[in-house]
Amino acid sequence: MTIRTTNGRGRIFDNVLETVGDTPVIRINRIAPETVTAYVKFEAFNPAGSVKDRLALNIIEAAERSGALKPGQTVVEATSGNTGIGLAMVCAAKGYPLVCVMADSFSVERRKLMRFLGAKVVLTPRALKAYGMMEKLQELVKEHGWFNAAQFETQANADIHEHTTAREIVGDFGGKAPDYFVTGYGTGGTFTGVSRVLRRDWPETRIILTEPTDAPLIGSGIPQERNPDHTPSAGHPAWSPHPIQGWTPDIIPHVLQEGLDKGFYDELLPVAGADGIAWSKRLAAEEGIFTGISGGSTFAIGMEVAKTAPAGSSILIMLPDTGERYLSTPLFDDIEEEMTADEVAISKSTPGGQF
Ligand code: PMP
Repeated sequence: MTIRTTNGRGRIFDNVLETVGDTPVIRINRIAPETVTAYVKFEAFNPAGSVKDRLALNIIEAAERSGALKPGQTVVEATSGNTGIGLAMVCAAKGYPLVCVMADSFSVERRKLMRFLGAKVVLTPRALKAYGMMEKLQELVKEHGWFNAAQFETQANADIHEHTTAREIVGDFGGKAPDYFVTGYGTGGTFTGVSRVLRRDWPETRIILTEPTDAPLIGSGIPQERNPDHTPSAGHPAWSPHPIQGWTPDIIPHVLQEGLDKGFYDELLPVAGADGIAWSKRLAAEEGIFTGISGGSTFAIGMEVAKTAPAGSSILIMLPDTGERYLSTPLFDDIEEEMTADEVAISKSTPGGQF
């Protein structure tokens, strides 16, 4: 084997925001059954580490174009973390103050990352769920006249996945569509936006949607109650707490509703958080692909699909973020801080530098 050489990207970027998107699709080589070929679209390659960088950038730029966001105006959003981190990057680069409203159930890393990127974080009690977070957002918008990024309702969300995420997939796979596309949902932006393109260009691709077994909102068949402005008017009764941060708030967002109404999924498969955690660990330790709990959960369902998929099938699985923002969560529960017995044995195998 000769040494690997690289040649750069052939351009110089004017700012960090130009580096959003164009994330790689990567083949899985060791942990998928041999009967299928599995691929992941790895969104941790975005500059602030998640798929939500895409929508954060588009929400701000769409609002700049329409005039809805004024120079220097404060932006406010309710977030499970990744949208807040993405918005914090965008607002830092463009000079807007940002306030994020987040339930205190989401990882401490998320709070610190948003603050590190210059944002203010207003916590809401976890008992009030995502719906309570959104009520707080509405109060802040009313009180202060801030710009509401409105990720759960805005067109700018699914649109950016139609114009970037989906186009990248079509471009990277070229003429050969994957047989399956697997995704979960938070706002539903990824699912709705990518599916608009898949249904049009590759109608044979089966779209598999997943949600936590502990929060089967779509699976329950119970419709979401809404206000005339599409915001939810109550929390969804099928929700209970689940460990898949960023997925399935206690509402069916308007952005997701489009995908449901248009029949964009072929199959809905629930996933247990513990399976998501187990697969996230296997992706890291056996493929070197370090993603969060939602990535592991999506992958778990990809592997479920692989069990019954015809031999030779290809499966594309979304991995929304990096595992690094889960160090304080159950994902890392059995990762030791101190040396393990194995490590102590290695240490003792030579005389130097022992405790
Ligand atoms: N995984 C994680 C970790 C997320 O933060 C999000 C977005 N909240 C998603 C998945 C789902 O993405 P979308 O909002 O596009 O449905």
